[in-house]
Amino acid sequence: MDEIFRKKSTVLITDVRVCGDTMDIHIDSQGRIGAIGEGISREYRKSSEFVLDGKRKIALPGLVNTHTHSAMTLLRGYADDMPLQEWLSEKIWPLEAHLTGDDVYQGTRLACIEMIRTGTVAFNDMYFFMEDAARAVDEMGMRASLAYGFIDLFSEEKRETEIGATEKMVKYIKSMNNPRILPAVGPHAVYTVSPVGLRWLAEYSREEQIGIHVHLSETEKEVNDAVAQWKMRPPQILDECGILNERTVAAHCCWLDREECRLLAERGVSVSHNPVSNMKLAVNRAMPYHWLKEEGANLSFGTDGCASNNNLDLFEEMKVGALLQKFYWNSQTLLSAEEALSMATTGGARALGLGNGTLERGVPADIILLDMDAVCNTPFHNLASNMVYACQGNAVSTVICNGKVLMKDRIIPGEDEILQDAAKSASDLVKRVAE
Ligand SMILES: [Zn+2]
Repeated sequence: MDEIFRKKSTVLITDVRVCGDTMDIHIDSQGRIGAIGEGISREYRKSSEFVLDGKRKIALPGLVNTHTHSAMTLLRGYADDMPLQEWLSEKIWPLEAHLTGDDVYQGTRLACIEMIRTGTVAFNDMYFFMEDAARAVDEMGMRASLAYGFIDLFSEEKRETEIGATEKMVKYIKSMNNPRILPAVGPHAVYTVSPVGLRWLAEYSREEQIGIHVHLSETEKEVNDAVAQWKMRPPQILDECGILNERTVAAHCCWLDREECRLLAERGVSVSHNPVSNMKLAVNRAMPYHWLKEEGANLSFGTDGCASNNNLDLFEEMKVGALLQKFYWNSQTLLSAEEALSMATTGGARALGLGNGTLERGVPADIILLDMDAVCNTPFHNLASNMVYACQGNAVSTVICNGKVLMKDRIIPGEDEILQDAAKSASDLVKRVAE
């Protein structure tokens, strides 16, 4: 194995293209960008343990996936093209009922491989057996915000179980003391969590000063049912229960009205746009990007889980998002390539509290390199255009997270074994369901 994968070390990237200029980037022993600029390699070459040749490469901040259920990689291709309720009740839920902690560990490792291969360095996850997910993220070297999917189904007894599971996960992740892995709370949605449960999660996340990860207004049915049951639309329910604040990431947000876009922006909520999942599950409305942008909400991209996507490639998400917005809202100018790229980097980093997602001195070195000589980068008229409309995740050649090289020239150490283990977990899981 290449020495560079073994440990965190000082790295110098030479002659790499950053925002149109050719620069050198020095990564210090703390995993931070210690220096960035033209011609700094003279000063840092001797003290750097490794030198990466950045010639004909583009450096970008690592991408951030703000909504996923990582271990659902095991369900990739298991069931598609079915009516939503049938798909959930006959296929997805029965399989999930048989999931074990080891499955989640294997599925999360597979998800990390896929995300690293496609240039993602950090993700916002909600699922079950999150201690096992945390173990996987720890080993794989990525960043993640991990939330236990809290579902009390309006039962007091179930609520107590979910509260226990949430507290246990948060304690466990805090005890790992790994700056790359943050705990969050995960109120699943207004139709699966009681107001009492929502209030408890809001209060607990405030005490612990941790993030909140929630599904919001994904379908028209969710909105109509909320109005029928509570005489309130979903954002209002969340707001009354204290769930909407600057630590909150709300996924989907397809069925928001203008007022609700203003409310989310006012509360400082970050929104995760999940266009592929929304189209696959035919939610029949695109997130109102223009209103959210005008109101000043922080916007980002998420893939959602692999059952409804079926990959974790944020490059694809950027393109589909930029196209869906134009198509649905009938505007050729809506969600430009520059805006899409900024959502996947800056917007995502802000959503997870990871800073501004930029390449500058002093920030953690979360850097991806792309090949300028790839077909999708030829010719090179416009960086954002190539990234969003032409390239896919496989144009990423090298990935660095927190200063550690996770992939170099498309090689990730141990990848074959991780893929085999995950495939075996998935087929064993399907067999258990059939028994
Ligand atoms: Zn989801």
